[in-house]
Amino acid sequence: MTRLCVPIFVTEIARAKRDIATAIEAGAEIVELRIDGNPSTEAVLSLIAGPRVPFIVTCRSTDEGGNCTLSAIQRLELLRNIASRTSSMVDVELATLHELSATAQPLPSELIISSHDFNGRPARLHNLILEMNEQPATVNKIVWTARSIRDNIEAFEILRTRQRPTIALCMGEHGLISRILARKFGAFLTFASLDRERETAPGQVLIADMKSLFRWDFLSQKTKVYGVVGSPVSHSMSPVIHNAAFEDTGFDGIYLPLLVNPGYESFKAFMESFLGFGALDLRGLSITIPHKENALRYLSEKSAELDPLAVRIGAVNTIAIERDDNAIPGLRGLNTDYSAILDSITERLGIRRENLVGCRIAVIGAGGTGRTAVAALASCGATVVVYNRTRERAAALAAEFDGKSGHVVAASLEKICDSCCQMYINTTSIGMHPSTNASPFGPLPPKLGPDTLVFDAVYNPMRTLMIRQAEEANAKTVTGVEMFVRQAAAQFEAWTHLPAPIERMKRVLKDRLGAGENSEPKSG
Ligand code: NAP
Repeated sequence: MTRLCVPIFVTEIARAKRDIATAIEAGAEIVELRIDGNPSTEAVLSLIAGPRVPFIVTCRSTDEGGNCTLSAIQRLELLRNIASRTSSMVDVELATLHELSATAQPLPSELIISSHDFNGRPARLHNLILEMNEQPATVNKIVWTARSIRDNIEAFEILRTRQRPTIALCMGEHGLISRILARKFGAFLTFASLDRERETAPGQVLIADMKSLFRWDFLSQKTKVYGVVGSPVSHSMSPVIHNAAFEDTGFDGIYLPLLVNPGYESFKAFMESFLGFGALDLRGLSITIPHKENALRYLSEKSAELDPLAVRIGAVNTIAIERDDNAIPGLRGLNTDYSAILDSITERLGIRRENLVGCRIAVIGAGGTGRTAVAALASCGATVVVYNRTRERAAALAAEFDGKSGHVVAASLEKICDSCCQMYINTTSIGMHPSTNASPFGPLPPKLGPDTLVFDAVYNPMRTLMIRQAEEANAKTVTGVEMFVRQAAAQFEAWTHLPAPIERMKRVLKDRLGAGENSEPKSG
């Protein structure tokens, strides 16, 4: 069973003792003591003597990302001494053993032999593993900085073909999933940090997130994989609500942030390598900026099943992947933003989609979300006025959807306060954290009242200035949280064929946003 290891830099002994206790309390199953700063051996032994948790002792050379300035032989002597007086494992770099050659013998019996490359994938990756296999070690450890998300697949392959217990991890944001899915592929351990300040390598996940957000205790070889594809993606709220939904329903899935560089070629390369690696069991993807159009193009090229609404909007935000043993995966592209917008409105007003015929609705913004809102509302027969900062973009959008059931016209954003609509839908980022004092209405909203609906797609903060202006005028409101949860719930249902636990998803999102409100920007 893959263990969760918390690395601790030993600088001051009392602090290290506290950190070890905190790590164990947080769920660490093994602790790595980084003694790069060369504390006294007796002090290190005193740390190991206390808690009943296995230890790894590491004295990392500067060549491989550590701070230790001792010579190779001094480092090895130090670790030999500790190994001979405890049952701890020690970590020695392959390069150190090469440097010391015969003088390295005899080696400590509980040895992790390691190789780290902070600059990227080592050119000799597979030779390094062969060389490690020739050494009398207990565990191989190979770590490198991922250049793209595809490097993770190579780390998983190394784990699948291991000849002895192995740690194979990718560093950096692109490598995040290798740290979480280490358990699925049977790694000896994965590292998680106590907090951001105490990361020992770039991209380590916090142990608290590993345990709760990424469901560490429930991961197994059989766990199905899902994720949000985007760039940037690290602050996406999608993992929060989807993993909560998996937990709530007992569904054996894990949902991950998947950082895929902008551009069609990057998207296509990601899809080909991740779909082609069957052991991953990739089952579903949420697609966010800047890949929604790329997803539509990729699925069209593959002649995949496409939701006509996604084709009409020109964007896919959801891919469902059906897998039968030995078969090429079946792909289906959807757009769940579309129904999330319509359902958020109709449910709030207690009406049906047919009742939108002839309604006069202002859509503010002509980007991806604006386009989806216009397509959705026009298809229901509404009269839509598109207000956008760049007037030409609004005009192009209006021309594209005008007459497709509803009527669509364009207007300048400065005119919004003169307008007289039954609904106002903000699809711009105006009012989003950190610019929380901004509203697309400006300081003076148009005439709002109990019969007006104001819908802000921005969900961080949850109550934007636009929503507060609407509340002051006693208008009805719909927040971005409502839309976000609905589009995610439809994704969950498309992937799992189970009813989505909407209330739980909403609660967990509100809790996260409430806790972090006004701290970091979030993306979809
Ligand atoms: P997008 O494609 O980049 O479009 C951005 C739109 O905002 C454009 O119309 C742009 O106008 C306008 N805009 C940006 N900054 C502006 C400013 N300072 N003043 C006036 N207009 C400005 O982005 P998107 O994907 O549609 O996302 C837009 C917003 O919707 C984001 O806040 C996002 O978080 C939110 N969203 C929410 C959900 C949800 O489920 N709640 C889902 C998706 C998106 P120009 O054309 O003039 O550049």
